[in-house]
Order: sequence, then C-alpha cells, then structure tokens
Amino acid sequence: MFRNLTITILILIAVPFMVSAQSFKIVPLGVKGGIDESNLSAYMVAPTGSNNYICLDAGTLHAGIEKAISNHVFTIPAEQVLRRYIKAYFISHAHLDHIAGLIINSPDDTVKNIYALESTIKTIKTDYFTWESWANFTDEGEAPLIKKYHYQILTPDSTISVKNTEMQVTAYPLSHSNLTSTAFLVNSNGAYLLYLGDTGADAIEKSQNLHNLWITIAPLIKTGKLKAIMIETSFPDEQPDKTLFGHLTPHWVMAEMNELSALTGPGALKNFDLIITHVKPPQVNIDKIKEQLKAQNTLHFNLIFPEQGTPINL
Ligand SMILES: [Zn+2]
Ligand SMILES: [Zn+2]
Repeated sequence: MFRNLTITILILIAVPFMVSAQSFKIVPLGVKGGIDESNLSAYMVAPTGSNNYICLDAGTLHAGIEKAISNHVFTIPAEQVLRRYIKAYFISHAHLDHIAGLIINSPDDTVKNIYALESTIKTIKTDYFTWESWANFTDEGEAPLIKKYHYQILTPDSTISVKNTEMQVTAYPLSHSNLTSTAFLVNSNGAYLLYLGDTGADAIEKSQNLHNLWITIAPLIKTGKLKAIMIETSFPDEQPDKTLFGHLTPHWVMAEMNELSALTGPGALKNFDLIITHVKPPQVNIDKIKEQLKAQNTLHFNLIFPEQGTPINL
C-alpha cells in the first residue's frame, strides 16, 4: 500500500516536468562496432537545450565532433566541444573500440570524471593510462600523475548525480562474453534514456542480466518516462551462436525485446524508439542487419539507425 502511495506521489511530482515535447539530444560521434577507427561507439547525450553533455563510451571522439561541426550541430571549434561540452565519460567496458578516442584525445582534454564499473576502471588504470602504454592522465595508478581525469567507480543499481550536468545515471551489469559490460540509465528531470554497452543475449550468455534490466525499466516504459533504448546489433543472423563473442544479432535483439514486452505489454512498445548501435562492418553485413531487424519488427518499434554527427532529438 505504501509502495502504491509512493508511486502515486512520484507520478504527481514527475508529470508537470514531462510536458515538454523533447527530453534528450544525442549526438552520435561513432556508431560502428569495429574496423573503422574513425567511427567507433561514442554518443554525446544532454538534456534538450543544454550543452552539458555526458559521453556514453568514447571509441571515436575527434572525427565524430568534426562531422557534427560540418553538420552545423556545434558552432565552436572541435577542441572546444571536447573540452567544454563533454563534462564526463561513461565507459561501458574497456574494449578498445569503446575507449580509444578518450585515450588518444587525452592530451587535449580538460579536467573531468571517468565513470565506470570497478572492473572496467581496473583495466583502464592497469593497461591504458600507464607510462608504457601512453601517459597517466589520471589521478590514480602509476606515478607521475598528470591528474586530469578522476576515476569514479559506479556501483550497480545505485544512482549518482553527474558532476557539472543536470543528469543522474544508474549502472547495471551486462554479460559480454568473458567480461562484465554496462548499461547506463540516464535521468534528466524525470525523462530517461537507456544505453547498453556490448552484450550477448541471456540465453547465450547463461545470464539473467538483461532479464533483470527489463524488470527495472518496464515501469518506466509503461509510464512513458523512458524515451529510448540504445542497444547493440553487431552481426547479421547468419553469424552462428557459438561465434557471437558476447554480441547480439537481429534475432537475439528481438528475442530480448519479446522478453521486455512480456513485462510491459506489447502495446507499450509500439512506436517506441529503439536505437541500434555497434553494427559491425563490412557494409554488406550492416545492410543485412537493418533488413533483418525491420523484417522481425513484429512489436512495431520505431527503429533508428544513428549516423555519425547527425543529432537524434528524443
Ligand atoms: Zn565493442
Ligand atoms: Zn566489447
């Protein structure tokens, strides 16, 4: 009874803030899952009307910012977008296609936090920001410390306010073959966006992580607060299950979406924005992924295939 009362009060508080038509602006800096080092997973996200962005993964930064500038998304130089607009990084896991841009751009960057689960931060600290791999731009690990970045460890299921932004983020673990990847649930003024790093399907990964995530977000879908899900589709359906290496195909994305719809009711997902990330080249495979997702879209999602430097307004 108290729970119902709490939910009612939360709805009463949240509804007045939900009247604005838009909630988030996403600027994709990189949208692919491999090979093309100028276009690897990285998405700037800010509340509509704000330039206080977080960057969800950081595979490619500079090339994506340049593309966005050529599309008139930003009107300041690329170096200034990096330094002034990106307030923090959220790294889903330490595979290079999700962090190479952060490492390479670090000499030109300014003071900010790197948020990630403890296991991800351990890899960044031990293997990347060292004086053998690069230089230690952080305030922990191998001396001397340049003290530009500060590691902020995320605890699964606990919400933090992101410094210098208007957003809160909650991290959830994902199963990605031999390592733990991360989903980030971003909240701005009662509107939510869910970003998933690399993940395999529960059935393949012998995991409950996606199921638990769907349980967590189902109420946010039913109340219209969740604006979009960003989920990977790395391979076309021709890729055998035994060589998915902790990734999804169109078949497995839609299998997981059916699990979600069992919790929300299928009507709740009609026209819901499903943003497809981490498509792996070659282009012939990317074309297949798009066709196969459309062919299996029986829940009638609004499928969005992001382009580098082209903003998505939710
Ligand atoms: Zn990846
Ligand atoms: Zn990965």
